[in-house]
Amino acid sequence: MPALSKKVCLLGDFAVGKTSLVRRFVYNLFEDRYISTIGVKVSRKTVTIPDAAGPVELTMMLWDLAGSEEFNQIQASYLRGAAGAILVCDLTRPETVTSLTTYAGNLTSINENVSLVVAANKNDLVNQLRVAPDEVAAVAASLGAPFYLTSAKTGDEVEAVFRHLGRLLVKS
Ligand code: GDP
Ligand code: MG
Repeated sequence: MPALSKKVCLLGDFAVGKTSLVRRFVYNLFEDRYISTIGVKVSRKTVTIPDAAGPVELTMMLWDLAGSEEFNQIQASYLRGAAGAILVCDLTRPETVTSLTTYAGNLTSINENVSLVVAANKNDLVNQLRVAPDEVAAVAASLGAPFYLTSAKTGDEVEAVFRHLGRLLVKS
């Protein structure tokens, strides 16, 4: 089976669930406590992606960046070489949806061919949801990205969002 390795960045505001989505996807675990990421953590997961020419073994190198620091030289170097990104927002905080456009702009200014998917996270917090799916859909459409309503807590749609990005990375 042909094998590929691609760098993927997790991007989004503080506490939207970037680290939790990686943890769910890679280890199938969830932690309610907030574990602040220091610097950058790289996790790896290999998935088999179907493709027209047959299945491809894709290793996703998942770069989880700390916090929501301003776009600076250090972050630029983390973004460099990324083939794709998961843009993460929090359905209980509307401002985190607006931020996605900035993160996408930061990334595409470095690599305009980067593949993007949107994870609108914390969909399990049904009594605190403050963003309608339509609003996420509009932002995602403006970025040319598919979107999923995810929950790192329950695992809902987590596999789906990473695998969709995987399919885009194998095609590109
Ligand atoms: P990051 O700063 O974007 O990496 O965010 P974290 O992954 O550290 O998550 C921030 C907080 O939100 C933590 O307390 C997590 O337990 C919580 N959290 C993350 N994802 C979810 C989710 O899907 N549902 C709920 N209810 N809480 C979540
Ligand atoms: Mg984190």
